Amino acid sequence: MSFSTIIDNFKETNVFSQNLPYKKLIIGFTLCNFLFERYVSFRQYKLLKKKDKKLPKVLEGKIDSKKFEESDAYGLAKSKFEMFSSTFGVIVSIASLLIQPAVWNYSIFYGDKILSLALRRNFKMNMIASNIAFFVLSTLISNITSAPLSYYQHFVLEERFGFNKMTKKLFFTDLIKTNFLIFVLASPIIYLLGWILKKCTDNFIFYIWLFVLFLQITMFLLNDLVIQPMFNKFTPLDNEELKSKIDALAKECGFPLSEIFMVDGSKRSSHSNAYFTGLPFMKKKIVIFDTLVKDSSIDEVVAVLGHEIGHWKMNHITKMMIFSQIHLAVFFKLFESVYKNEKLFSNLGFIIDRSTSNTTSSLPGSNVAIINDYPFLIGLILFSQLIQPTDTVMSFCLNLFSRHNEYEADKFAANLGKGEKLKTALVSLQVANLSTISVDTLFSKYHYSHPTLPERLIAIDEHMDLNSKKEN
Ligand SMILES: [Zn+2]
Repeated sequence: MSFSTIIDNFKETNVFSQNLPYKKLIIGFTLCNFLFERYVSFRQYKLLKKKDKKLPKVLEGKIDSKKFEESDAYGLAKSKFEMFSSTFGVIVSIASLLIQPAVWNYSIFYGDKILSLALRRNFKMNMIASNIAFFVLSTLISNITSAPLSYYQHFVLEERFGFNKMTKKLFFTDLIKTNFLIFVLASPIIYLLGWILKKCTDNFIFYIWLFVLFLQITMFLLNDLVIQPMFNKFTPLDNEELKSKIDALAKECGFPLSEIFMVDGSKRSSHSNAYFTGLPFMKKKIVIFDTLVKDSSIDEVVAVLGHEIGHWKMNHITKMMIFSQIHLAVFFKLFESVYKNEKLFSNLGFIIDRSTSNTTSSLPGSNVAIINDYPFLIGLILFSQLIQPTDTVMSFCLNLFSRHNEYEADKFAANLGKGEKLKTALVSLQVANLSTISVDTLFSKYHYSHPTLPERLIAIDEHMDLNSKKEN
């Protein structure tokens, strides 16, 4: 059966067009997801609470008992915080679902008022502008409610383990900059999405796909040229020895290196990292955190970059992009059959009444919104909430794929003869980041995009053994 027949069959049965109890379904899915994640976290919590934990054999002699205890204490603190923040999160998410029509009404009421004042004439927003106004107000509400948690995470939790390097001033300027960026970037995106949904009813998927591709490339360029430099300082690497070793490595692998930068990651946190950026078929920039250079030897940094170049050589980024394109195409194909479902909207308090001339004829304060056309952004939000169970499965699959890529990149670095240095670099990164050592299997399968340190060390050893056997 081809993909399009599956979709057509789906449309014919069209589960979503029936009069299902959508509100109850969404709340049910949200609660089930919450309970599943709490179960996974509880397993991890129980493991960290155990008194007689043993350091994995492969780490013996590499990590001392004090670091082991400290890293698990950090893991336990993170686990407790996560229990609290996710409970808070699920309450907020159900509450937002229930008050969504009221938020819509308020955003239109004040949106009209503000624009009328600014334009000095009576102004009524159209459907696309109304969706943008709703997005701005609901994002503001959600960011304000989550700010105290983020504050606690930086200034209490991370501070306690010595990771927070952020000042309170930086925290608040980051918060303002981020919100500003979200509004500046999201408004034209919502505008274009609304426009496509309105104009391109035929070949809907093709135009959405084109739009998303355009968006990904634009965001990529913007992120590199504008967004990242707004938050961090990038300086050309001035360590000559490190630079020439990275140059030699790039040449050996045929990696199209343009420049090497050091980023002041230490301004916010002492967690360390390295990565490369650049569109496919173009020259790449390597970015190294100042913390990584400080914590590791030159050969270790080079080994970490050997791993990063492995990701490039094996086309991991392109593969991930193709995967996400397919995921998006399926998502929008299903969304197409749902987003004009009156029953879904009315069940959540949005009444479609085509006889009204204004976009919205309900009053602020009312928790029922009477609208003269489909509010596509609300449709998108409701649809995403309706397919939550598939997100859980997706999360497992994506992490599985990502861990597979990490093993491949490690093997690549080992083939370059950098296996031993990569191993010590990984150990020192683990120590520097105080990453949790005791990890529950289900917890790591669900949450971890990287294999655990013992898993990686064992795999590198096995691969190096195999290589030396082949040589003999
Ligand atoms: Zn990697």
